[in-house]
Amino acid sequence: MDFNTKLLHGKTSGDYPYGATVPPISQVSAFRYESAEEQERVFNHKAAGFAYSRVGNPTVAAFEQRINELEGGSSATACSSGMSAITLALLNILCAGDEIIAGSGLYGGSIDLFEDLARFGIRTRYVRHVNVEEVEPLINEHTRLIYGEVIGNPGLDVMDVKAVADLAHSYGIPLITDSTTATPYLVNPLRLGADVTVHSSSKYINGGGNSISGVIVDGASFNWDFDKFRALDSCRKFGPMAYSIRLRTDLWENFGVCLSPFNAFMNIVGMETLGLRMEKICSNADTLAHVLDDIPGLSVNYLTLKGNPYKELAYRQLNGKGGGILTFRAGSKEKAFRILDNLRYVVRASNIGDLRTLAIHPASTLYIKSTDEQREAAGVYDDTIRVSVGIEDIDDLTEDFERAIKLAE
Ligand SMILES: *Cc1c(COP(=O)(O)O)cnc(C)c1O
Repeated sequence: MDFNTKLLHGKTSGDYPYGATVPPISQVSAFRYESAEEQERVFNHKAAGFAYSRVGNPTVAAFEQRINELEGGSSATACSSGMSAITLALLNILCAGDEIIAGSGLYGGSIDLFEDLARFGIRTRYVRHVNVEEVEPLINEHTRLIYGEVIGNPGLDVMDVKAVADLAHSYGIPLITDSTTATPYLVNPLRLGADVTVHSSSKYINGGGNSISGVIVDGASFNWDFDKFRALDSCRKFGPMAYSIRLRTDLWENFGVCLSPFNAFMNIVGMETLGLRMEKICSNADTLAHVLDDIPGLSVNYLTLKGNPYKELAYRQLNGKGGGILTFRAGSKEKAFRILDNLRYVVRASNIGDLRTLAIHPASTLYIKSTDEQREAAGVYDDTIRVSVGIEDIDDLTEDFERAIKLAE
């Protein structure tokens, strides 16, 4: 089955009560049992079933299974937000004294998280780009994972997933990727060798900008050395499944970052059109980037533009597509603000992956807590505008930007 068919008819779609074509919303906290014995089996993971919605829920499970199938994973765990997914994906294998190697241009929230983790004795060493040349010299006996975004938001650096995964594995370290901006439509990091991938499914997977959520997908392909990864010690007997099982039965349950059944439902409905949306979004973004690139005085960053250092890698790894985000530098903060204020259809809002085109001045909003150095690493300057391209008719979109830019002169 190809991508769009799989979204609708994959083996994890269907089988819902009454032949419902989408899963009913099991908006419930607890599940009733006929006998204490049966309840005991379910609570002890000896029988299939649901006990309490913090630990499992049919609608949430349906979402997890669909994402898992789409990413080619072994199991998926849905969380209340992308940030909670990232937090747990990392903490699941970390102990005080361990180190992470990560890109300095990551999503700002992730950088803030690493600073929080430092207070618990987990240190992050940063590279400007998550590639073999920069990562390898920082690997030491404390390194427990390498973390990076497949397409950086908003820096738009692309990670060569296979190359970094091969490097990590040669040192007995897993690679965890954030594939939010790439989406399963452009790439499956697990198929390229990443061990775990996370999504802020609030973005392209939901697609309509109507629910916050995240998901962790484990490939169960990493060969854990349980003497080195002490956090997984209690799950030794599960071998490559140790990561998922510890996550599911320990950290995720105890942190209580479950996804609400309603939001899981919104994600299932939204993701059925992921392929269609991404096709239109990537085509709109490519056209808009080229139109903006022809306007004197702007400097545009988009993966398929001539001269972009990641163009070749995007062709090789991302199906030749550039994704839905572009950024451009307007010349000054004042001009960037004037352009934003002149936009008629484009919505001034944070978030990415909406149906609507959204634009924002990241330096004064998303990166307000960051240092100049952190901003620069993320490709955020005082005059940068980030655009999350939507599915509008392209002529309306290009006209809106051209008009806003002309008026801002
Ligand atoms: C939005 C985003 C996150 C955080 O996700 P939330 O759902 O907002 O918690 C993490 N990584 C990337 C790349 C994002 O764009």
